[in-house]
Amino acid sequence: MKFNENLENLKVYEAGKPIELVVREFGVEPKDVVKLASNENPNGTSPKVVEAVRDFATKMYLYPDDSYFELKGALASKFNVDEKNIILGAGSDQVLEFATKAKLKEGDKVLMNKVTFAMYEIYAKVCGAEIVRTDGLLHNAQQFKTTYDKLKPAIVFICVPNNPLGECMTRAEVYDILSHLDKDTLAIVDCAYMEYAAYKNKDVLIEPRELISKFPNAVYLGTFSKAYGLGGMRVGYGIGEESVIKAFYKVRPPFNVANLSALAALAALKDEEFVRNSVEQNFEEMKRYEEFAIENGIETIDSYTNFITYFFKDKSSKEVADALLKKGIIVRDLTSYALNGIRITIGSSTQNDRFFEEFKKVQC
Ligand SMILES: *Cc1c(COP(=O)(O)O)cnc(C)c1O
Repeated sequence: MKFNENLENLKVYEAGKPIELVVREFGVEPKDVVKLASNENPNGTSPKVVEAVRDFATKMYLYPDDSYFELKGALASKFNVDEKNIILGAGSDQVLEFATKAKLKEGDKVLMNKVTFAMYEIYAKVCGAEIVRTDGLLHNAQQFKTTYDKLKPAIVFICVPNNPLGECMTRAEVYDILSHLDKDTLAIVDCAYMEYAAYKNKDVLIEPRELISKFPNAVYLGTFSKAYGLGGMRVGYGIGEESVIKAFYKVRPPFNVANLSALAALAALKDEEFVRNSVEQNFEEMKRYEEFAIENGIETIDSYTNFITYFFKDKSSKEVADALLKKGIIVRDLTSYALNGIRITIGSSTQNDRFFEEFKKVQC
């Protein structure tokens, strides 16, 4: 059978390996598996959220309120924007899909960093767009502007902080890029880790209200999957100028966020203390990874997220990741990004103990 030819040179997104796989393939006890591969919150989900979902579980036979009145209302008041500025997605991933479908025609170009979140490329290619990347490893405002001038892409993806490397441009740098774009260029400002980044340094904080009032062609993406501990529920959001959000709505399927998921997100917004504690703990534990790297001659990049990257000179990252996997430690090998490194989610204190212990043993 013939399929859409845009799919021909598309690689399937490589998700972090699940705990079940390690149990099945290497016979590790489930309790001994340490999953540091998908940037999940090691504190799990706020107990208040779990309780809210449990109370609501008998309602899963009902379709959600498709206006998502309560969750959109809560986000609108959190960010001081109007509900008309918000669209929800099954993860912010789905909002990326809306953005590409709504904006791109065959042959359009999209611009992104050399190394960045893999889904930008996948969604853009499905629409028949051509991918253009900056030259340098880390986000650089000047490179974005120069490449933009040459190729006039229809969408510019900016990932602050960036996955999988963890670096983050300042707000001034992001605004510098945005003020350089034509009004007809859609700018996606992906802030999946902003709760972490803004805690580390206020100069990187992007506020959706200010962003979209200064730059009506920009859309802020946020998610409940990382700091809020709801990866399994699939809830994210886009915040943009009303006419942009209206266009995204045209490609949105109805009931795209499950009712239990919307309820969980709403409850999660009410427990800011859980998020704050998780973020504080993250950077406390991150210090241990930084020190360990120095002690062991491993190169890292200063991280504004809940993960850190380790780069190796004299061993293969794939071998390191495979050896750790056999011990039940799941990390993300970066070979598919053409980098000899691994991305490690900052775990709980005991999970990190296990990582260091096993890592020392696999040092061949
Ligand atoms: C995790 C992540 C997302 C979105 O995740 P969802 O679970 O789909 O909300 C988006 N962008 C980046 C850079 C991410 O790391």
